[in-house]
Amino acid sequence: MFNKILIANRGEIALRVIRTCREMGIKTVAVYSTADKDSLHVKFADEAVCLGRPPSSESYLNIPQIMAAVEITNADAIHPGYGFLAENARFAQICCEHGIKFIGPTPQMITAMGDKITAKETMIKAGVPVVPGGEGLLESVEEAKSLAKDIGYPVILKATAGGGGKGMRVVWEEAELEHAFNTAKAEAGASFKNDGLYLEKYVEEPRHIEIQIAGDRYGKVCHLSERDCSIQRRHQKLVEESPSPFMTDDLREKMGEAAVKAASAINYESVGTIEFLVDKHKNFYFMEMNTRIQVEHCVTEEVTNFDLVKEQIKIASGESISGRNYYPEMHAIECRINAEDPYNDFRPSPGKITVLHQPGGHGVRIDSHTYAGYVIPPYYDSMIAKIIAVARTREEAINTMSRALSEYVIEGVKTTIPFHQQLMRNEDFRKGNFTTKFLESFNML
Ligand code: ADP
Repeated sequence: MFNKILIANRGEIALRVIRTCREMGIKTVAVYSTADKDSLHVKFADEAVCLGRPPSSESYLNIPQIMAAVEITNADAIHPGYGFLAENARFAQICCEHGIKFIGPTPQMITAMGDKITAKETMIKAGVPVVPGGEGLLESVEEAKSLAKDIGYPVILKATAGGGGKGMRVVWEEAELEHAFNTAKAEAGASFKNDGLYLEKYVEEPRHIEIQIAGDRYGKVCHLSERDCSIQRRHQKLVEESPSPFMTDDLREKMGEAAVKAASAINYESVGTIEFLVDKHKNFYFMEMNTRIQVEHCVTEEVTNFDLVKEQIKIASGESISGRNYYPEMHAIECRINAEDPYNDFRPSPGKITVLHQPGGHGVRIDSHTYAGYVIPPYYDSMIAKIIAVARTREEAINTMSRALSEYVIEGVKTTIPFHQQLMRNEDFRKGNFTTKFLESFNML
């Protein structure tokens, strides 16, 4: 087992990893930018190293600085969390070359799944269903037009290097295609320094259901059932739950089997997620694989009673997994609390938290790095907390979540708490009646 792990991340996930390390008796090193010097992850870690100025390029994405921090603290492994360098194959490679264990898959596995079009080709070969569409990158608008005609509108243009919902355009008819192609290409180029686009069928009113998997270096792969992440705003997840209210035992078996097949196709080692779109007829299509721990991993932890970060660290240290699959024994819902104003088009609201009271009680878990007096910096993402409610049934979990939200007091900045409160009261949400389009017709009262 590792002696000391450096966490190349910030915020709630850095804290999340530190907590597990402490339970495992592993020492921790936090890294931080000057904007995060008062952050809880810095205080909770055994050691902390300042990386540089606030911009990510000078701190959390600054590989030479991070490697220097590893060297001076004598850490033997790096946990990348999610975002930042978590899916950066070059970083994983540099770790290997320096004899530092990257807690995640190998650089080759990250590369195989990092680019969406390559991942899709790998899945087609492995016999996993994918969204119908073109194979390979689009060379021109003309090619896109002829392909779209073959597949049939609506179609979606997607950036092969995409993430966070960027570089995607839904196109309903040919007249819109040229403009969509040019804007998606420009957005992809600016966001990912890779303007490669591909096109696929736009699945109408789908659900986003993903399968948590784990694999070890001895070739064993298992799944830990699904998370429903259909409550999204602009293709970004706001609420996740497990099990999915749309799931049947039969569909879970099929999707679980497909996910295990997908991960086995690249001999996947570590925890990871296979994302699918599911249409109203319960057809499911591979969308992408995330080769890291995800924000919403906690709902799976609560329903299967696993510490996924611990499993991830154990796998990285060479331990084997049992290889059997795990099924939800409880119902868990997670609400992402962002420093955004839901009454003002979710505009970011950085600043100082003047008053904070966090909920507690039976069935409530809070993962957050905030405290009264904490200043939310404007440089990073706006998520400040995750509330996870757990109960025996979905209805009880929703009631627990409503109660927890009503206790949560955050003053000084605007948050998405009022949005989640209204969502928990919404009849369609309570009935489990929703797709990824749900929030498009949702108005704050
Ligand atoms: P990102 O990596 O940017 O998060 P994803 O490929 O995971 O992008 O897609 C994000 C979301 O976009 C999905 O959850 C879904 O809501 C929507 N989406 C992506 N592809 C399609 C598609 N072919 N049809 C319908 N919706 C899609």
